[in-house]
Amino acid sequence: MEKRQLMAKKIFIIEDEKDIRDLLEYYLKREGYEVQSAKDGDLGLQRIRKERFDLILLDLMLPQMDGLEVCRIIRSSPQTANLPIVMLTAKGEEADRIVGLEIGADDYITKPFSPREVVARIKALFRRMEKTKAGEEIHEYKGIILNLWRHEVSCQGEVHALTFKEFNLLEYFFKNKGRVLTRDILLNEVWGYDYFGTTRTVDVHVARLRQKLPALNNYLVAIKGMGYKLLEESAKKC
Ligand code: CA
Repeated sequence: MEKRQLMAKKIFIIEDEKDIRDLLEYYLKREGYEVQSAKDGDLGLQRIRKERFDLILLDLMLPQMDGLEVCRIIRSSPQTANLPIVMLTAKGEEADRIVGLEIGADDYITKPFSPREVVARIKALFRRMEKTKAGEEIHEYKGIILNLWRHEVSCQGEVHALTFKEFNLLEYFFKNKGRVLTRDILLNEVWGYDYFGTTRTVDVHVARLRQKLPALNNYLVAIKGMGYKLLEESAKKC
């Protein structure tokens, strides 16, 4: 067994309110997690760059740099791009929640929360990640490996950082190989019925996927007047 698995999971909290920080630390330590924390984004990012953590608990409303910016920076660095992030948001921050999803937080907890709920959600996230390690929830296509619970895409051993939506779009293509997917279907299934975007959103995201994963170029094809199709596994390059 790998040494890390024997060690306690390390959680890092970025939260400016001391009471909440202390409360979370107390409950998470009681569950056997190793917990460290910072009171703002700058200090938090410094620590995350130096030390390896298993999960970040990130408050949205922080002084100076807000949680979304911290999340964006974590996602943009190759070393931390796949680090699980659980965001703490206050009620009524729906718009931020959506933006947060776009930049790739893994889960959300709305304030006010009970510490027990936080512990339960974190445990659930870790369990789902462990399942992935055990070989579940992994999809492979033409050398591209999609790991659903780590939200990780790799190709020939190289990990590619995708945004939440790019990842979900790729997942949807993987699960519907050989089917022509119209832009409307993709908008509804990947973005949801409530989304106000246009079909142009789909084109932009498909273009980004192709750019980030050139291996897709010959297999993710545009169907004129309709939408897109990911060719069947057995298909030859087009
Ligand atoms: Ca705060």
